[in-house]
Amino acid sequence: MRVLVTGGAGYIGSHGARALKRRGHEVVIYDNFNTGHRELAQGFELIEGNVGDAFTLARALRDIDAVMHFAAHSLVGESVQNPRKYFENNVGDGLVLLNTCVECGVHKFIFSSTAAVYGNPREVPIAEDAPKQPVNPYGFSKLSFEYAMQSYDPAYGLRFMSLRYFNAAGCDESGEIGELHDPETHLIPAALQSATGARNELQIFGDDYQTPDGTCIRDYIHVDDLAEAHVLALEHLAAGGASNILNLGTGKGHTVKEVVTTIERVIGRELPKRIVGRRPGDPPVLLADPSRAEKMLGWKATRSLEQMVASAWKFHQLRSRARAV
Ligand code: UDP
Repeated sequence: MRVLVTGGAGYIGSHGARALKRRGHEVVIYDNFNTGHRELAQGFELIEGNVGDAFTLARALRDIDAVMHFAAHSLVGESVQNPRKYFENNVGDGLVLLNTCVECGVHKFIFSSTAAVYGNPREVPIAEDAPKQPVNPYGFSKLSFEYAMQSYDPAYGLRFMSLRYFNAAGCDESGEIGELHDPETHLIPAALQSATGARNELQIFGDDYQTPDGTCIRDYIHVDDLAEAHVLALEHLAAGGASNILNLGTGKGHTVKEVVTTIERVIGRELPKRIVGRRPGDPPVLLADPSRAEKMLGWKATRSLEQMVASAWKFHQLRSRARAV
């Protein structure tokens, strides 16, 4: 298939693009480099454009069989300060893309969704039919887009897979691509920055939660496991499979302290770190029930936390060296 990958110059999108290529699909990256990085799109056919630009999109979609839509804003805190930015981009521009797909006869659509649609879950692990009660505009924007896809399926024949990610982590084994957020708010890259001196210390947000060691539990999933699930979801649609919504996680949780200990083991030294207050809006435990994805796609996340940390560390070091020369 020839696949348009929006946000293919971003963290998860660049892994998705490579996973497609490895399976023999043709990839066209569509990115405006607002938060994407040219180096992550290297080696791919590229169209520079906005997801809200119907004219450029219509030309880009002419010979395309399917779309993987990764392009979005994804900072929870920013979404609370500036919800307009999130609804304009994640919903408004996303709908321009969806409408242009329908008009151009592109009916296979893979969407980057998020566990943030569940908000503070009543039960863990979380299955797809658990209540959807986002607690921030980011989660609302992703859920709104899911509702649009669900409405477009019977009306316009759109077939979609909405993939709700838990905590994406790690990098491709090649070390060529990885997580490059600015500012960096995610636990593993933030911890690695504290290891190299790029930040003074890692702040651990709260150790008074109702968990075995008092720190929050998350379901970390290797970005290559995520990327492979995207390709399988697309192939499922191409084989005539119906639209669906799937959680992507491992089903296994780790506390922040466990992640820190794993990082210290991998890099061979202690991190400068300090316990600080809770970060507002952090649920104590988020854990996926990934059984629907496993059954439907014949997929299972196989990579360990250790592999996520080791690959992220390799990327971090290669980049530090590249910047130094
Ligand atoms: N976290 C932390 N210090 C940081 C960044 C994150 O203690 O500098 C914690 C955060 O409170 C949460 C977990 O690590 O419990 C994962 O946070 P992250 O931002 O990576 O992902 P989220 O679960 O918010 O999507």
